[in-house]
Order: sequence, then C-alpha cells, then structure tokens
Amino acid sequence: MSDTPPPAPTVVEAGITEIAPGVWVIPDRRVPLVPNVGVIVGDEAVLVVDAGMGPENGGRVLAAAKEKARGKPLFLTVTHFHPEHGFGAQAFRDEATIVYNAAQRDELEDKGAGYVELFRTFGPAVAEALEGVELVEPHEVYEGDRTELDLGGRTVQLLTWGVAHTRSDQVVFLPDERILFTGDLVEERIFPIYPYFPPDDADVDGALWIAVLRRLEELDPAVVVPGHGAIGDVSVITVAREFHEQLRDGTRRLAAEGLDADEVVARLEPDLLALHPDWEQPEWIGFGIRSFHAREDG
Ligand SMILES: [Zn+2]
Repeated sequence: MSDTPPPAPTVVEAGITEIAPGVWVIPDRRVPLVPNVGVIVGDEAVLVVDAGMGPENGGRVLAAAKEKARGKPLFLTVTHFHPEHGFGAQAFRDEATIVYNAAQRDELEDKGAGYVELFRTFGPAVAEALEGVELVEPHEVYEGDRTELDLGGRTVQLLTWGVAHTRSDQVVFLPDERILFTGDLVEERIFPIYPYFPPDDADVDGALWIAVLRRLEELDPAVVVPGHGAIGDVSVITVAREFHEQLRDGTRRLAAEGLDADEVVARLEPDLLALHPDWEQPEWIGFGIRSFHAREDG
C-alpha cells in the first residue's frame, strides 16, 4: 500500500454511458473501491447492478437509475456482498425490489458488519463514504444457481456458482445481447482481489474461481463489464483466468519444494509483476499466493 491516501470512492453518475440500446454503465473511472454499475432498461422495469459504497453513492446510483426508468419499477441486484458493490443498497430499500441469491444474503449477514469495520480503517475518504451505512436485507432471494427477471422485452439472467471471489458471487447476463456483468470475478488490468483474511474471511478459492471463469467464457459474451476496469470482450475473462492459473501453478510448484507461504510470495511475486507490468493493485498478489498455499497445505 502506498502512503498517498486513495481518491474518494465516489460514483460519478454523470459519466453514465449507453453500451447497447437501453443498457447503461456508470464507469468506475479506475478509482479503487468504485465499481462499474449497470442500469438495464426494459419496457416494463429496470434492473440496477451494484449500488456503490455507502448511502450517498447508493443515492447517486438510484438517481441515475430513476432518470433512465422514467417511472418504471426498479430492481436492484448486487454481484457480491463486498462494500463497494453492496453497501449502497439502503438507498434502494424503499424505492426498488432488492434481489440476491440466498447464499449472498447469508454471507452479508455473516460478514457485513465486519467489513464495515475493516473498510473504515482504509482512510478518511472510505470512512466518510461509509458514514451512516445500514446493511439492508433483500426483499427477495432465490435458491439454487439461477433466476430470470423479465424486464419487459428483455430477459436478464442472474447466475451463481458458489464460492470463488466470495462465497456467493453472482453475474448478470443478457442472453440476447450477450452482455455479461461479472462483478469482481473479473477485473481488467487489475490484479484479482483475493480477500484472504483468515481467520475472519478465508472463503476465496482460486481453484473454484478458475472453474467459474471457464463457465463465464462458455457463455460466450460479446461484451464483458468487469467489476473494476475497462469494458471489453470475452478476452477480458480469459486474461484474468490465465493470471489465476499462473498464480496457482507457481504456488503449487514452490509449495511442492517445501517453501512456506512467505517464501513463495518472495519468490513468485516479482515474476508475476514482471508478467503484468501495467496492472494495478499489486498488493493482492500476495493474498492470492497465500490463499492457494493454504489450500495446498489442505
Ligand atoms: Zn469484491
């Protein structure tokens, strides 16, 4: 981590961009702890994908969605429970139908308060964004690995495969337009976020994550909106998967030589940095190595 305080994690709704007819993205501007937010407009209803962090950001996303909705009912879903994706949901509590998968509802219940406390230590701008935050229950949950929302002339699939980046990641897929919102399962030109914080949270699983990324590639999306970073095509997923495989293979090889986690980080991190000199947030490499190493140890 650098000594410079990070920029404020503010969603700038004025940047909203139409990536396909009726499909809008509020871009993250590559600001850490700001997600790419989706606003998907149907003839009868509008689905918002991710809410930003804290009540003010949630309010900004809500305002942008209402402008596109022109009075149509709103739905909100969240790709996973992490603060910058889900902790603006309170702005939607009385304004939208909030839909999560059941595992995500449970994970929020288990970890949400702890993540508020953790993120409050990330500097004054993040603490300010979290001022007044309330964790809200979804209005609806679905069991199993999928549900569909009919927005009127437009079907949207909510798909989940269980543990990967978190215990309950979910993607949003528009099968007709082949547009995929991945949340933090995929990031572009950013080292993948491995929230490996034992004993509080060690649910991230790189091997399962790789398997999920293969499933996402098989959806054959034409447009991929990552959790953070630039919108691209399916190659954004492939590049991310290949990085996880480098992380896995390197960690396994060195662990098999008997190196402990610290030693593997010292040996492998420079190689991975050299392979991706223009990627951001290198601090996550070590967490990824430690996560794989812990699972190698069984
Ligand atoms: Zn995340």
